[in-house]
Amino acid sequence: MTVMVRPQALADFTVREFKMLIDGQWTNGAEGRVLERSSPAHGQVVSRYQAATATDAHRAIAAARRAFDDGPWPRLKGAERAALINKAADLMEGRADELARLDTLESGKPISQAKGEIAGAVDIWRYAAALARDLHGESYNTLGDGTLGVVLREPIGVVSIITPWNFPFLIVSQKLPFALAAGCTAVVKPSELTSASTLVLGEILMDAGLPPGVVNILVGTGAEVGAPMTLHADVDMISFTGSTLVGKLTMTNAAQTLKKVSLELGGKNPQIVFPDANLDEFIDAAVFGGFFNAGECCNAGSRLILHRSIADEVVSRISEVAKAVRTGDPLDPATQVGAIITPQHLAKIEKYLAEASGDGATLALGGGALDLGLGQFMSPTILSNVRPEMAVAREEVFGPVLSVLTFETLEEATTIANSIDYGLSAGVWSANMDNCLTIGRRVRAGTVWMNTFMDGAPELPFGGYRQSGLGRELGRHAVEDYAETKTLNIHIGPRTGWWMPR
Ligand code: NDP
Repeated sequence: MTVMVRPQALADFTVREFKMLIDGQWTNGAEGRVLERSSPAHGQVVSRYQAATATDAHRAIAAARRAFDDGPWPRLKGAERAALINKAADLMEGRADELARLDTLESGKPISQAKGEIAGAVDIWRYAAALARDLHGESYNTLGDGTLGVVLREPIGVVSIITPWNFPFLIVSQKLPFALAAGCTAVVKPSELTSASTLVLGEILMDAGLPPGVVNILVGTGAEVGAPMTLHADVDMISFTGSTLVGKLTMTNAAQTLKKVSLELGGKNPQIVFPDANLDEFIDAAVFGGFFNAGECCNAGSRLILHRSIADEVVSRISEVAKAVRTGDPLDPATQVGAIITPQHLAKIEKYLAEASGDGATLALGGGALDLGLGQFMSPTILSNVRPEMAVAREEVFGPVLSVLTFETLEEATTIANSIDYGLSAGVWSANMDNCLTIGRRVRAGTVWMNTFMDGAPELPFGGYRQSGLGRELGRHAVEDYAETKTLNIHIGPRTGWWMPR
């Protein structure tokens, strides 16, 4: 049985009301429509937004364009941009509890985890501030006496930033500070389900002194607001995180005007475990990798690929630990697994489980919705006897569900790991570094963890192979991603004529 933490109704609660941020002004939408978000854990309305439309998106893009073409931001010294980004990081730190609570109320994630995400995000803003001072090009003094070559890095221009609901503040923080560090301006659209913390970020940036129009924030649906942000000719680049399906649509839209795209999409990440692995360590990482953020995580370690000789023991030990995972009210500081984002999403997860049972998988633990009186929750679930061709082994379930597959040889483990369309991340567990390094080199994934799982740092690039995305976020080159390259080819001395040699 799962350890359940029943949610308490939100007493004396004041619903937060938000406007949209366009050109430095907090404004209503063109149509004056309102969107509401209810807490997925408490079933109560927690936020109310002005809903943006395509008209608002076009106003925001025009403001970002003006701020880029005529405003001071792209022309500031790197040190000046760094100072403002650092000031914003300080203000974020001061409002960390408020930001964490908003993310918890709207996404259903545990408050202790949300606090960790805000602290991680602040660290990323500070890292980006440091990089703002280091964006530089190259020079070539090797082209002969008559030529000097200078390669400039210039901000790419207006960036559309579109983010999902699973890590609202963290994901915008993997994009926006680097775009700002490069000197770009931006239009940001968070998921309509979890927009509050991004709007508070807008308040913070205004308080830090960001010039009007540099960052504009819209709340609205993907179809109404996201699509114009990917199509408009005045947008130079799109940075998108979300489903592979919408990522492909984004790329198709971007192709109409050949915008640069950076895509961070889905994952179905394997954890490959050899018999000589430290199983105590792995079992903790398996539970964490599968149930952290209720499995609503592109990096979830949702495919366990276990050596056949240890599979039964490992499944039974993971099940024991998973039973002790506290699931329920995300506002309770002891909760480890919170609510599922929407009832529709919960139904989608349950459909995957029903299909898997029909295909011959065995339910080792959990298996469905948990009735906690309020909101929507799901018990941590483990499926064994999963075969590589089943949908639950190949597709992103995005729920607290671990699928267990088995292997005999390293080659077989690698083949199973690489047999799907995704390639975001992977884990390998073995006391033998030869196993770890061979898997690390053969698995087609953007990150491979060895004897650990889902660790990260702003210094380490993040992104996917194949249908998990395009480009890398974070790391020392993250600012360059938001920059164009320009060549200055400089002639020195008298010209050598083309048609009349001198
Ligand atoms: P989506 O890809 O639909 O949403 C991600 C973002 O894109 C949201 O801001 C969304 O807006 C926006 N969007 C939707 N349609 C368009 C469009 N036509 N043009 C531009 N932007 C658009 O993901 P969902 O939230 O629907 O989740 C569905 C599945 O995607 C999940 O079950 C999971 O498998 C996967 N997913 C993966 C994530 C990851 O981190 N890799 C994150 C989230 C989901 P809005 O939602 O406001 O309409």
